[in-house]
Amino acid sequence: MSEELKPCPFCGEDEARSSLVCGEFAIMCNNCDGCTTYLDAEHEAIAAWNRRTPDLSTMREALDEAEKALQDSKDFILGQWPDVECNTIDKALARLRSVREVKNG
Ligand SMILES: [Zn+2]
Repeated sequence: MSEELKPCPFCGEDEARSSLVCGEFAIMCNNCDGCTTYLDAEHEAIAAWNRRTPDLSTMREALDEAEKALQDSKDFILGQWPDVECNTIDKALARLRSVREVKNG
């Protein structure tokens, strides 16, 4: 394979292989067997594999921004109305933090 493969979008494994079946190509993870659909050309399968890989640093930045915006909103609300419950914001913050912990793990 001439083009570089991005890590597996499912498990993060760096090693993947090209699979050729009946004249069609797919890219398959060496760890979890996650794969693309079978396509006419290997470069198409590589492009499909790489297109599905999320940019994790961009996702982390977005999670950080969302968490900060929610926390700032909660702080503002509690500054104005100290007795208000922020259940929806607390629930969203907990969800964001749990997702980010998985991504960092
Ligand atoms: Zn994988």
